[in-house]
Amino acid sequence: MNRGFTVWFTGLSGSGKTTILHRLGKKLKELCRNVEVFDGDVIRTDHCIDLGLSKQEHDIFMHRTAFVCKLLTANGMAVISAAISPYREARDKARKEIGDFVEVYVKCPLEVCIERDVKGLYRMALQGEIQTFPGISSPYEEPLNPEIIVETHKETVEESTNKIIKKLVVLGYIPDITSEEDLYSDKEEAVIAKRLSGLGYID
Ligand code: ADP
Repeated sequence: MNRGFTVWFTGLSGSGKTTILHRLGKKLKELCRNVEVFDGDVIRTDHCIDLGLSKQEHDIFMHRTAFVCKLLTANGMAVISAAISPYREARDKARKEIGDFVEVYVKCPLEVCIERDVKGLYRMALQGEIQTFPGISSPYEEPLNPEIIVETHKETVEESTNKIIKKLVVLGYIPDITSEEDLYSDKEEAVIAKRLSGLGYID
């Protein structure tokens, strides 16, 4: 059986958790892992419709999600979960419960997240239509010692994803079967292709 683990994304709304979650899920599947992906927004709408955004409700959400992650991790799955998870204590509790827990801080300045406003939630929060919104009207507590920090206002999705994969290799959760070539970013690949083309090796 593979060694299970949970990659737990935390970060402000719009920081890029869902985007990287799906990219990482796809890459891990290519590495022949049994992967389960939990998109916090989907869990909330499909399975936690009863929960709002108060601290207590965030804690219940974390408790439910961490329980499922724990079971899957114990059974050798590669689990990836993305939810704002704004409270440090709740994340630390999830870490203790799951054990093989890799915290990824998806870091992005609040101003950039507000500008992206992918789901229109910042506009609503700033207009007072959402009472407790992390970063605006309720706290977002940054992780103190996450295993990985990705900075989505500076890195491409590919760069952030590769950073996580490299760390999973270092932590011994996935074998280093990826060739260096697989880990080049789109930008790096384009530069290499241009060089090879200039030398006449490829069209
Ligand atoms: P979250 O799940 O944290 O709420 P999303 O992934 O839904 O955030 O949205 C992030 C937005 O930021 C997307 O529109 C995505 O295309 C964009 N984005 C820009 N650069 C990056 C990056 N480097 N990593 C992730 N997302 C990025």
